[in-house]
Parts: sequence; C-alpha cells; structure tokens
Amino acid sequence: MLINLRRMLQIAEEKRSAIGSFNVCNVETLQAVMNASAKTSAPVIVSFGESYDSHMPLEGMAELVKLYAATSEVPIVLHLDHSKKMTTILRALKSGFTSIMYDGSAFPLRENIERSRHAAEIAHALNASLEGELGYMNPEDGTPSNMCGAESYTRANDAKRYAEESGADALAIAIGNAHGIYKGKPHLDLQRLEEIHRAVSLPLVLHGSSGIPEELLQAAIQGGIRKININTEVSTTGIRAAREFLDSHQDPNTRFEAMAKEAERQMAVVVEKYIACFGQGK
Ligand SMILES: [Zn+2]
Repeated sequence: MLINLRRMLQIAEEKRSAIGSFNVCNVETLQAVMNASAKTSAPVIVSFGESYDSHMPLEGMAELVKLYAATSEVPIVLHLDHSKKMTTILRALKSGFTSIMYDGSAFPLRENIERSRHAAEIAHALNASLEGELGYMNPEDGTPSNMCGAESYTRANDAKRYAEESGADALAIAIGNAHGIYKGKPHLDLQRLEEIHRAVSLPLVLHGSSGIPEELLQAAIQGGIRKININTEVSTTGIRAAREFLDSHQDPNTRFEAMAKEAERQMAVVVEKYIACFGQGK
C-alpha cells in the first residue's frame, strides 16, 4: 500500500523510531529496497532523485513502485528526492508520487518558505506530502564531501519560522551530516538537534546518513529524527559487488543480468542493516 510521508512519519513517531529512505535509480536498486522491506516486514520510503530521470524516466519508476506496493504487506512511500524544478514536481505528482522534497535550501529563508509553501499547496491538493530543507549540505553529486562548518548548520529560530509558515510536513536539517563519502569522522551536533526539535513540531529528516556510526544515528533518532536518508552506501556496495563479480567472471559470455542480480542481492543486505538500526522490521 502506498501512503504519504506525513502518515508514514506519524508511524515513526508512534514508535519513536525512524523510517529508512533509500534512493533508487533503476530496477536493481528498487528491487534491493523492496526485497529488504519484504524480508524484514519494514515500511520504507522509496526515494527517486530528480537527477535520476536520465537513468530511468520518473513515470516508469512510479509505475513499478505502484506495482510492488500493491502487494506489499507494509506501507511504502514513493518520494521525489531533492527536486528543484516545478516541472519535475508536477510530473511526479501526476504519476502518483505520494511525497515530494522541495530543496530550496540555497535560497534565503523567506524565499525558501515562499517556494516551499507553493510546492506544499500543490502536493497537499493531491494528498501528497512535502519535505523541505533548511541549512547547507554539500551537493549530492557523488564526490567526497567536505563536511561543512557549524555556520552552515540549521538554526532553530529559522526552523521554527519555516515550520510555521511553509506548510511543509517534514524538515531536513543540517547538523554536520553531508552527502557522499565522509572524508573524516562523521560528527552530528546533537545539541543543535535538540534545540531544533524543541523549536518545531515537524518530523525531522537526516540526509547524508551513509557512514554515520549506528550509535550516532540512534542518538539522532532519540533526538527527534524520523526519516533517515541512505544513498551512498547502497550505491557503492552495488559497485563493489559488480567489480568483484566481473573480476571472478572473466568469461566473455558473462551476462550483464547475472552481475546486476549479485549487485542487487548485496545492496539489499545494506538496506536490511539500516532497517534494523532504525528500529523497524521484525
Ligand atoms: Zn539529500
């Protein structure tokens, strides 16, 4: 069953847990997430990045996710990740996405609020949810991240105003988290998280969570994080699995689908690991 993000994060709140949001860019990554969800009986957020449209049309992914969700025993959210273009948002909503992330974090607060409110009104009219973002994180382009300094972290006062005025259903914050592979030891400012959590009633979202130690992620859940995004570790695991498979299958008649299946299997193991860490599943 497909549900929207607002409902999914209510489920997370009831259990004082977080729901894993896993990025999918093609059939193998989608099946890795859906198989892990089915195996553990854990609800998941299937997250399709605006930038993946060239790998697989957004409309095609929507049809596939609807197909899987129709027979899933646990609720699923079909989420558009880091969208900046209204045309993509409209295409996603028209295709049946139940959640949209509008990333206006590069704009000044007031403009971010106005743009987010516009996106939220459209999403809500179609019973979908809106996630917004405040604070600066490095772009999600796969390059190793330079962890940003505290001056780029989300400020509690800004978050309060954003939550009150934007109409968003969830808020992604920057507290030391970064996209891609961490160059140093990841650090989360849990004090800042507590200030933000006290200031706003919206469920909070942590992006760039691959590579953050499990105990730190669990401390963040204690501090009010209800959606945790995992992308890099699933993707790099798929690459490593494919590389190892090709190294051990030098036969020129090796089939692409055999390699893809092994990558899919190993990516599912990573998804299962995070599901257990977040307090979901059996
Ligand atoms: Zn992100």
